[in-house]
Amino acid sequence: MTPTGRDAALAEDALNRSGLSTFICGDEEELRREIAKGAGCVLIAEEALPHDRAVAWDDLIGPEPAWSKLPIVMLLARGHSQKELKSLRTIEKRPNIGFIERPARKRSLISALKNAIESRHLQYAIRDALDALQTANRRKDEFLAVLAHELRNPLAVICAAIHIKRRRSADGDDDMLSAIERQTQQLTRIIDELLDVSRITRGKIELQTERLDLVSLVREVFEDGADRLRAGKLRRHLSAPSTQLFIDGDPVRLRRVFANILNNAAKYTPDTGAVDVTVTKEGESAVVVVKDTGVGIPPDMLTRVFDIFTQVDRNLGRAQGGIGVGLSLARGLVTLHGGAIEARSGGADKGSEFIVRLPLSEAPVAANVEPAHDTRERRASHTKVLVVDDDLLVGKLTGELIASFGMEVQVVAGGAEALEVIPKFQPRIVFVDLGMPGIDGYETVRRIRQLPGGDSLFIAALSGWGQAEDFERSAEAGFDRHFVKPIKISELENLFASEPLT
Ligand code: ADP
Repeated sequence: MTPTGRDAALAEDALNRSGLSTFICGDEEELRREIAKGAGCVLIAEEALPHDRAVAWDDLIGPEPAWSKLPIVMLLARGHSQKELKSLRTIEKRPNIGFIERPARKRSLISALKNAIESRHLQYAIRDALDALQTANRRKDEFLAVLAHELRNPLAVICAAIHIKRRRSADGDDDMLSAIERQTQQLTRIIDELLDVSRITRGKIELQTERLDLVSLVREVFEDGADRLRAGKLRRHLSAPSTQLFIDGDPVRLRRVFANILNNAAKYTPDTGAVDVTVTKEGESAVVVVKDTGVGIPPDMLTRVFDIFTQVDRNLGRAQGGIGVGLSLARGLVTLHGGAIEARSGGADKGSEFIVRLPLSEAPVAANVEPAHDTRERRASHTKVLVVDDDLLVGKLTGELIASFGMEVQVVAGGAEALEVIPKFQPRIVFVDLGMPGIDGYETVRRIRQLPGGDSLFIAALSGWGQAEDFERSAEAGFDRHFVKPIKISELENLFASEPLT
C-alpha cells in the first residue's frame, strides 16, 4: 500500500518477476479485506500511514488471533525530521515489523519480503498445531463423556441387583453385599465426576442453584458425607459460627466439592494426623478452610493440583484410589459459583490447607414451603407400573427394583409391545428407555399420549444420557420426568412417596 500507487506498481513488477504474487491496496479498508483473505505479509510505505492519529495496528490491519503477528515491511519516507523519528519509535514496538530505507534496492526488498513470508509460514504451522491440539482435546472430552455414559448401564444393573438382593436377604448385615455396594458407589461417583468435568470444560453444566446455609452444608459433609474422613482414625474438628451463612449454590455440587477436599485431607494424612475445618465470614464472602497435617504439597504444585489428571505423586495418588479429577472438578464448580479455591502448604510433610471462598447472599425472606410437585406427579396415585426396556436384563432388574417398593410391575421389551399392553394392564406410571430399536423412546411416549387416557399417565424417561439438551428433548417429546441411569433408590423413593403402597 502506497499513497499514490505509483511506487506500488513499480514494486509489484519487481516482486512478480521474482515469483511473489502481490495485490495493491488503495485504502485501509481494502488492506484489511486482503489481510482477512489470507495475505502472507504487508508492504507499506510510511506515507500511507494515517497522519491524523497515532497508528494502532489493530485499527489498520484488524484484530489478530493469538498465533498471528502478520509480518509488515515498511518503506521509510526519504529524509526524516525529529518528529517522524518519534512516531517511528512507537511503530517499531510492534513485533514482526521491518524497515527499508529508500531508495530501496530491489535485492533487499525481495529478501525482506521472502523472510517475512517465511515467518508467516511458521505462524501457519503453529496455527495448525494449535488446531490439532484443540481437536484432540475435544475428542478426549467427547470420549470421556461417551465412556462415562457407557459405564452407567452396567452400573445401573449392578445397583439394582444389590438393592433387590438386600431387600430379599434375611441377613441385613451381609458383608459381601456391603462391600459390593460401597465399591459400586465409588465407581458411580468417579463416573459422575468425569461426566461433570467434561461438562464444565465444554461449558455444558447447569447448576441447580438455591439459597442455602453453607454452615449446615459443610457440617453435613464433615459429619457424614466424606466417607474416607469418617472411616479414618484422624483427629478431626469443625469450627463454625453459630449463625447461618447464606449463599446461592447448587447443594449437590457443593457437597461434592467439600467431600472431595475432605476426603483428600484424609487420603493424604497419616492416621496419627489431624484435619481441621473452619467456616467463617470475611467481608462479603463465606470462607471454608480445610487444614491437614499430612504429606503437604511442594510449592511448584500448589496451582497445578487443580489441573485435570494431575497428581503430585502418581504412585501415592493411585494407591489412594484417585485419578486426579477431584480438585479439577472442585475448582470448576467453585468458579461457576462465582467463588475461588486456593491451596497452601509449607511443602513436603508440612500439611496442606485448602481455602474455598463463596460470595454471600442475603438471608431468605421466608422459610421454604413444601417443595412444589408436578401436577401430573401428584395425580399419579395408582400402583401399576410398566417398564419398557429393550435390554432384557436391565428391564427385569428395573422391574424387580420397582416391585420391591410394593408396586405391581410389568416389563416389556419395546414400544410396540408397550402400546399393546397399556390398554389391558392400565398402568399409572410408565418408565421408558430412550434408545430402543424399532420405535424409540421418544416415539413411544408420543404414541402413548395419543391412547385414551394416555395424557394423564405419568411417563418417565430412563436413559444413560443426562445432559441439559437430553432433558429438554425428552420433555419436548412428552415425558414428565427424565431419570439418568442408574436410577437412584432415593429418586424412586421420592417418586413413590406420594403413592399408596399396596
Ligand atoms: P486424586 O484423585 O489424585 O486425589 P485430586 O484432583 O483430588 O485427585 O487431587 C490432585 C492431587 O493433589 C492429588 O493426587 C495429590 O497429589 C494432591 N493433593 C490433593 N489434596 C491434598 C492434600 N490434602 N494433601 C496433599 N496433597 C494433596
